Amino acid sequence: MKPRNKAGLYLHIPFCRSKCPYCDFYSLRVPGDRSPQTEQNRAAREKTDAYLDALCDELETGRRAAAFTDGDRPVISSVYIGGGTPSAVPAEKLAKVLETAFRYYPVENGAEITVEANPSSADAAFFRAMKRAGANRVSLGMQSALDDERRALGRTAGFDGVKRAVSAARDAGFDNLSLDLMLGVPGQTAESLAESVSLCAELAPEHVSAYILQLEEDTPFYARRDRLALPDEDAVCDMYRALVSRLGEYGFAQYEISNFARPGFESRHNTNYWRCGDYLGVGAAAHSFLNGRRFYYPRDIDSFIAGGVPADDGEGGTPEEFVMLALRTARGLRYDDYEAYFGAPADGKYEAAARRLPERYVRFFDGGFSLTVEGFLLSNTVIAGVLCG
Ligand code: SF4
Repeated sequence: MKPRNKAGLYLHIPFCRSKCPYCDFYSLRVPGDRSPQTEQNRAAREKTDAYLDALCDELETGRRAAAFTDGDRPVISSVYIGGGTPSAVPAEKLAKVLETAFRYYPVENGAEITVEANPSSADAAFFRAMKRAGANRVSLGMQSALDDERRALGRTAGFDGVKRAVSAARDAGFDNLSLDLMLGVPGQTAESLAESVSLCAELAPEHVSAYILQLEEDTPFYARRDRLALPDEDAVCDMYRALVSRLGEYGFAQYEISNFARPGFESRHNTNYWRCGDYLGVGAAAHSFLNGRRFYYPRDIDSFIAGGVPADDGEGGTPEEFVMLALRTARGLRYDDYEAYFGAPADGKYEAAARRLPERYVRFFDGGFSLTVEGFLLSNTVIAGVLCG
């Protein structure tokens, strides 16, 4: 019998309580339990329920993605429930989605099961329900520990709310918790970032993700970009360097451009992406890479509910993609990883191109090379330099 492939499973929850002004992710607004019973709110809740039912249906039947999976069900090595805001939907219904995944997919013992949550909507009942359903890791959207910066980002909970969410997650039994930080937000300075990092460390997460704010077109931030008190590019680069070093002092090693962890707490789900591993994404706007093919569901909740099928996104897992993803990580491009993946040695052209780049961007070691912190700051350009020679 052919051995089953392993894959990460991503479940997309495209609903948020409110829309953050910098975000261009696909999500619809869903009201909280205490919101007024207006016609609009009722319709949004009904749509949320129908969507979660459709997720369960797809996990059970696999009919939407059947053209890409041939009915195969890979062994699941990690599950990631992301969004959107998973904590914005009713906890017991989200728990049912996770339980359905466990029922219809073989999930490895000890698999990492992450659920994203927002401090403004994740309460003790949410964390308890997700823990009972099998989640063992929480990723909490903090963005900044400073209330002024959080407000500027459209976050409704203050730092007190973040602290409450962290302690509710701990009380529910989560011993693997990640906090998000953002760099380059309006009004941020080197000092305010240092304060945010130190408050973040006081919350004792096992993992930190830190992203540089991008101004995406079609967002309110983009429309008012000239009026936002954004730190300039040089200041943001200095913040990134300082962040890497401060997090290192607190015991969080950088293992990817934007990710830092205490030893043993690197995200296994995301590491699988960076190693060009298979993953199956279920839900509107979710992307997959399975058996060498990429496919994705349209950004359309109604279509997913109605049984809409994913679109083909071509072949994946090329040598260029493997090199590009490996160079995002501190592990870098290791020739034995490459050979294990492709069954053939890496072309020497990658190292030759890397050796032509300025020394401050790349470090070489026996059996491969990786980007330095300076290289991470210019990763798109440096990686293009490696790939295009
Ligand atoms: S909560 Fe997250 S997904 Fe939702 S709008 Fe804000 S940033 Fe975007």
